[in-house]
Amino acid sequence: MSAVYVWIETFDGKAVPASWEALAAGKMLADSFGVPLTALVFGDNASAVASEAAFYGASKALVSDDATLKDFRLEPYAALLTKLVQDNAPRAVLAAATSRGRELLAASAADTDSPMLSDVLKLEVNDGKATAERAAYAGKVLSDAAVVADGTQFITIRSRAFKAATPDASAKADITTVQPVLSEDQIVTKSEGFEAEVGTVNLTDAAIIVSGGRGMANNPKEPPAGTDKPDVWKAQDGFQNVLQPLADVLGAAVGASRAAVDAGYIPYAHQVGQTGKTVSPDLYIACGISGAIQHQAGMRTSKIIVAINKDPEAPIFKMARYGLVGDLYQIIPALTEEVKKRLGK
Ligand SMILES: Cc1cc2nc3c(=O)[nH]c(=O)nc-3n(C[C@H](O)[C@H](O)[C@H](O)COP(=O)(O)OP(=O)(O)OC[C@H]3O[C@@H](n4cnc5c(N)ncnc54)[C@H](O)[C@@H]3O)c2cc1C
Repeated sequence: MSAVYVWIETFDGKAVPASWEALAAGKMLADSFGVPLTALVFGDNASAVASEAAFYGASKALVSDDATLKDFRLEPYAALLTKLVQDNAPRAVLAAATSRGRELLAASAADTDSPMLSDVLKLEVNDGKATAERAAYAGKVLSDAAVVADGTQFITIRSRAFKAATPDASAKADITTVQPVLSEDQIVTKSEGFEAEVGTVNLTDAAIIVSGGRGMANNPKEPPAGTDKPDVWKAQDGFQNVLQPLADVLGAAVGASRAAVDAGYIPYAHQVGQTGKTVSPDLYIACGISGAIQHQAGMRTSKIIVAINKDPEAPIFKMARYGLVGDLYQIIPALTEEVKKRLGK
């Protein structure tokens, strides 16, 4: 077995920060197995990103900077990853558990008939045997799974579960160029749509998240006469003019429950939960969110949870470290002012 591979996800020619966390997880495995840590970088600006991967601990890099790989598309990316795995039989292939990381590794694991562990929270190696901890049943149960000793194990790493290494700008990696497998005429998908992250901070990388739920519609402000959907107007106004200022002063990203997204209060890119994003910030402030199991599935591993809800029986209070019972439209502006004062903003 030759190496531990880590796919470095890029966007607009820059590495996605969660990839450095996956690289840290990969380094732990590579060091324990006594094999090199190899970064895989495909697409625009691949060589520069590979050099950066060295700063974060990669000793080797395989790069493919070809027009067919400019933007992420599953077919050419999976074909190349599968070929690298078939040719070199790495011990493990890791990536951040983003939508793309999950999609790419699952496809390549299926193509190579290899096992896959997704959304891993912890990795340990004892006497040469590696185990991975992951959440099951919407985060209610933590399970340990053995990393296969023969063959290649595919693993995606939950954002913020591992700490990225402190970059060492003097570190260098052996960079090898590899050719893409598919030519443009063999690729059926001509462009793969993506949703831009909205807000100043990427939700999955954010250290602080302020989230709003259906309760955002109980805004006391009245919409202009003739407004088509007053609830949607009220909630959108609340997200923009009440929740966002708190997020701004804390340097936080804005999240939402599915109820808020489904009602059209805020785009899907903000949804936290089982069918949205899985987040693990240091601080998660849930405002007007009841705390349904599917919402918990996406934010349960947050370090500190604060709940603001007018219903003292809301399930979110069972998991919150701090709970404020009351109207979010009174509490949030007061909290924003207080935080501003304390932070001298
Ligand atoms: C297959 C499946 C997948 C799902 N995936 C997700 C998912 O990914 N993410 C997700 O979030 N949900 C998901 N859901 C939906 C989930 O079951 C809940 O319906 C949803 O999370 C409820 O959102 P909410 O808490 O905003 O709304 P509600 O449950 O309606 O809660 C609103 C809360 O706001 C409070 N409130 C109202 N007004 C105020 C006020 N002025 N001040 C303070 N508090 C106030 C209320 O007391 C209440 O607790 C999924 C469901 C299914 C079946």
